[in-house]
Amino acid sequence: MSSHDHDELDECVRALESVHAFLHNELLEADADMIRHHLHACERCMENFEIESTITEMIQRSQVPAAAPVTLTSRITRLSVRRRA
Ligand SMILES: [Zn+2]
Repeated sequence: MSSHDHDELDECVRALESVHAFLHNELLEADADMIRHHLHACERCMENFEIESTITEMIQRSQVPAAAPVTLTSRITRLSVRRRA
């Protein structure tokens, strides 16, 4: 019986929950630091994080008007507005 396993899992859950906030720079520096540390120590979360950051990058790139057709850009903008409301 070790509580270490549980702690690790708890950190993984917290890291994954904060992935999006982290990628959008919405975290406090202390929280962002904690996640950075966890990612370096946890291969599984690092993998998940890389996938999420790739997706976020793709979305951000497609929101640049010069790089995407207007229809696509406005569709994405409408989507994110709807999600927040
Ligand atoms: Zn982890």
